[in-house]
Amino acid sequence: MNTLGPPTAMKVTAEHLRRNAYLYVRQSTLRQVLTNTESTHRQYDLRGRAIALGWTAEQVVIIDTDQGQSGASATDRDGFQRLVAEVSMGRAGIVLGLEVSRLARNNADWHRLLEICALSQTLILDEDGLYDPCNFNDRLLLGLKGTMSEAELHLLKGRLRGGVLSKARRGELIQPLPVGLVYTSAGKVVLDPDAGVQQTVAHLFATFTATGSALATVKAFKSQDLRFPRRIGSGERKGELVWGPLEHSGVLRVLHNPRYAGAFFYGRHTHRPAPGGKTTVVTLPRDQWTVLITDAHPGYITWEQYEANQNRLAELAVAHGPNRRHGPPREGPALLQGLAVCGVCGRRMTVRYHTRHGTHLPDYICQNDGIRTATAICQAIPGAGIDSAVGQLLIDTLTPLALETALAVADELATRADDADRLRATTVKRAQYHTEQARRRYLAVDPTNRLVADALEADWNNALRELAEATDDYERAKATATTLTDTQRQRITALAADFPTLFNDPATPLRERKRIVRLLIEDVTIRRDKAITIHIRLKGGQHHTMTLPMPLASWQLRKTPDEVVAAIDELTEEHTDSQIAAILEQRGFTSGTGQPLHARLIRQIRTAYQLRSHTERLREQGLLTLNEIARRLGISPNTVKTWRDAGLLTGRFANDKGEYMYHLPPADLPRPRIGRPPRDRTIQTTSASTTRSAV
Ligand SMILES: [Zn+2]
Repeated sequence: MNTLGPPTAMKVTAEHLRRNAYLYVRQSTLRQVLTNTESTHRQYDLRGRAIALGWTAEQVVIIDTDQGQSGASATDRDGFQRLVAEVSMGRAGIVLGLEVSRLARNNADWHRLLEICALSQTLILDEDGLYDPCNFNDRLLLGLKGTMSEAELHLLKGRLRGGVLSKARRGELIQPLPVGLVYTSAGKVVLDPDAGVQQTVAHLFATFTATGSALATVKAFKSQDLRFPRRIGSGERKGELVWGPLEHSGVLRVLHNPRYAGAFFYGRHTHRPAPGGKTTVVTLPRDQWTVLITDAHPGYITWEQYEANQNRLAELAVAHGPNRRHGPPREGPALLQGLAVCGVCGRRMTVRYHTRHGTHLPDYICQNDGIRTATAICQAIPGAGIDSAVGQLLIDTLTPLALETALAVADELATRADDADRLRATTVKRAQYHTEQARRRYLAVDPTNRLVADALEADWNNALRELAEATDDYERAKATATTLTDTQRQRITALAADFPTLFNDPATPLRERKRIVRLLIEDVTIRRDKAITIHIRLKGGQHHTMTLPMPLASWQLRKTPDEVVAAIDELTEEHTDSQIAAILEQRGFTSGTGQPLHARLIRQIRTAYQLRSHTERLREQGLLTLNEIARRLGISPNTVKTWRDAGLLTGRFANDKGEYMYHLPPADLPRPRIGRPPRDRTIQTTSASTTRSAV
């Protein structure tokens, strides 16, 4: 084996013997530990070989902490790590192991150990021989063995998988079945004969269909105090049936498992390498499964039901995703929750509730970007008005009249379909006639006249083929043509008549109302400007655009009586807001909600009814503030104040801050001469002289 390298004895030097010998004992799985004692013996025999090469018995260190762990990667194996550490610190003269090239099964681990052995001049020994990693030929050999080992592992897996695959393709592979399905002694899959198990599994599917969500199914089981069966998958009690509470993950497992729909599948999951030499299990999309055979065995639901459940679950899952497209109905009164789209940026809008007088009112909010980038939200729109407008639109759209029209169109289409059907039927009749003619011609000819007989036979065959094609076409077209039955028609008409009642009935749960909306509406785009614009896309493809005024603020909703508004208008001519409040209170008036009136409320009412303020009215009469007078006359405000203090101005009380407004005084009032600090005086003089020269 080692003919290219130096002889075995020459590889072991005194330096090697001075260091310890490390015997690495490896077992892959727990089963090997229990059953394959033979290989364990062989591994410990290597100890004798080390002693024969010159190490003492005390120098042989045994590392066997990896017992019971798979050798696929080094990361989980303490023993292998320890071995690497000892070798790299130069404590090992030799590493001993059975089929040493498999010390580390994957190549990365293997080459690393090899490198370290070469650096620390450590020898390697297995049953085949002794290797010096510093020697090029030995190293090449070891590297090849590592690669071979990996390749062998691969081939072994491939062989196993090949056998499994061909069985799987035939749907005959025996696989663990989910609870509720069992194998017969002949290897056929049947529903569990245990009536309790069978009924419970069936009940789960029925509950999901009724409630439309996995969580609601769990709740239903809980409220009915029902337990769900489970088979123990491993250990001593393997295969035993235990009953426990139904969990959300359990419901999902059952709903996602195609076997309950009677389908055989294989290759739904695949293993992908993950960092650290590990692998992760990935669920593949259905078109990438290796095998899928529907109607392979009895099931609890049909394949169509399975598909419908998958779609429903996907819808539910999306509701938790970043873009809550088509969220399912949830608690809370917002009708358009999950359907509202932001008219500014196109994102899904979320719902926030605020409480007003004990009722929850929805706001539709676009805040995706707001949360992510910590900026202001895109838009927030009060939702109550939008909800009722959309509800009304649905009621208006789904009138009996509208449906009558739709049914008339359907009738028209059906009539045309009948015409087409008659046409196709004629084609079939024609083909039948041709065939009959060809047959007669063939039978009439003298069989000895071979040439003519052959031609007529070919004719007859052609006619037969055309007849078959025409019949096929006819049957196919007939099957696809859908005409409404009378019962369907009656039900549709009844629904239209019932819809407003159902939708407006307070007894109809909000959840149901939201479900109805989801059946009819694709989405609703909302944009807030001076008014609210809503664009509704119905499932049928029609569009509706509506504009709603911005809802009034809360005080506006509680409308002020007309005579109070009139009184405020009149009193504002002469009085400020707080004076008006006092006067109205004396007269016994209150606000719309019966609250005593106060200045702020008076101002709000004035603004709402666009009444001019007391100040504005005084200004219209030509009254000005002190500063305005000073600006108008081009003099200092202090001068005007002096005039006021001297009683030279006539004015009126202007607002609740205690300010007055005055009539413009004549321009020739005397300028005061009062002692001032020098600096001020200079400015005063300048401005006074300017004024004087201007005059
Ligand atoms: Zn937005």
